[in-house]
Amino acid sequence: MEDSVSRRRLLTGVGAACLAGALDGCTIEFWGPKPAPPAPPPLHLAPITATPDRITAITVCTRPFRAQGPRLDVEQIAGKTVVHNYGHGGSGWSLSWGSSTIAVQKALATGERSIGVIGCGALGMTSALLAQRAGVRVTIYAKELPPNVRSSLASGLWTPDSRICFEDYATPEFKQQWQAMARESFKTYQTMLGLQGIPVEFIDNYWVFDESNMERRRQTPGDTRPPFAELQRELIPDLIPHSEDFPPGTHPLGSHYLRRNTQMMFNLTSYTQMLLAEFRSAGGQIEIKELHAPNELGSLRERTLINATGYGARALFGDQSIVPVRGQLARMIPQPDVNYGLLYRDVSFVPRRDGLVFQVIGDDDYYGYNDATTTPERSEAEHAVNTVATLFK
Ligand SMILES: Cc1cc2nc3c(=O)[nH]c(=O)nc-3n(C[C@H](O)[C@H](O)[C@H](O)COP(=O)(O)OP(=O)(O)OC[C@H]3O[C@@H](n4cnc5c(N)ncnc54)[C@H](O)[C@@H]3O)c2cc1C
Repeated sequence: MEDSVSRRRLLTGVGAACLAGALDGCTIEFWGPKPAPPAPPPLHLAPITATPDRITAITVCTRPFRAQGPRLDVEQIAGKTVVHNYGHGGSGWSLSWGSSTIAVQKALATGERSIGVIGCGALGMTSALLAQRAGVRVTIYAKELPPNVRSSLASGLWTPDSRICFEDYATPEFKQQWQAMARESFKTYQTMLGLQGIPVEFIDNYWVFDESNMERRRQTPGDTRPPFAELQRELIPDLIPHSEDFPPGTHPLGSHYLRRNTQMMFNLTSYTQMLLAEFRSAGGQIEIKELHAPNELGSLRERTLINATGYGARALFGDQSIVPVRGQLARMIPQPDVNYGLLYRDVSFVPRRDGLVFQVIGDDDYYGYNDATTTPERSEAEHAVNTVATLFK
């Protein structure tokens, strides 16, 4: 007892001396030199086996971009009430649940108990499922089904404002609707984490720069074309995890500067299978059917239709407001140990479990703009793969 009291007195005295010393500007080391904090564990990034001989497919598709954003209005065509749900640019998967929630609410407002959905891509499948979950009978009419739809040729990342509209069209009303769509989609995707087949997961994504002061812009300075809207930071900052920087020496990619973000990824093969399985098991019908003109809508059984034809709406409804934005993917043999994405120079890499994805994304978002060509370019695919390979040399 006595012992502990005298020790406490001693400590109090030393503590006071320390404080006085600190105020005087001198330091007293009572416990000896402070040990250095333990070094953070080095960042481990499993090397990517990026060689052109491992390319399994080169696919091309066109994003359905509209300057004014997705079309979600209601029209009467050939005696039918048609709710449009198309024109989502590079954000179709990301916004699908939110956009289809709006379309289905409009379709249900007609009071019909039986609804037809035209199209079986990201927007058609989510429209059909949401209508079905609301208790109505649904038939999907589509020229093609996954994996032969454009949606199946996407990168598979949560990119809710990618080429969604031009800045000039991002009015307060548009922003409100976009925010509602993004939040509803994000919320829905959280219910698909941890499922068998891993349809949805979060990955780390690294921006890789050659110099410390670099950044990637959506538009090259001096470009006088209309800028694409950027909405995420302004409207859903709470859904964006903070980034972390890794200077040279703290990671295995040589002298580069890395910035890490965490992002949601869709393994589109298992994800689309999951959506179609739910639709079919709940009694959903699918009819393979190509429509050639708006008056053919009159031949469909249902009086209320959701039009989710994506880029196909350009030809079917003569909607010239849809501008193609070409995008090509090089798919590669999966590498289960690689669980992170990369953005380096003009190339993006996504570690999808159903096949690695390499893509030339150009210098800015105008890359591929108004280019409807769908012929695969082998040299572009090899450039994407070889650019990533340089990081591991
Ligand atoms: C390279 C690339 C990468 C992308 N990456 C991403 C990404 O990472 N994240 C993201 O959110 N988005 C991404 N996108 C965008 C996304 O793929 C699209 O926004 C989305 O696929 C659009 O889906 P959709 O359902 O409207 O159209 P589609 O997938 O084209 O589906 C249209 C459906 O309608 C049918 N159809 C069309 N015309 C007719 C007709 N006349 N008669 C009958 N049926 C018809 C088709 O057969 C199909 O079933 C990417 C796009 C590209 C090109």
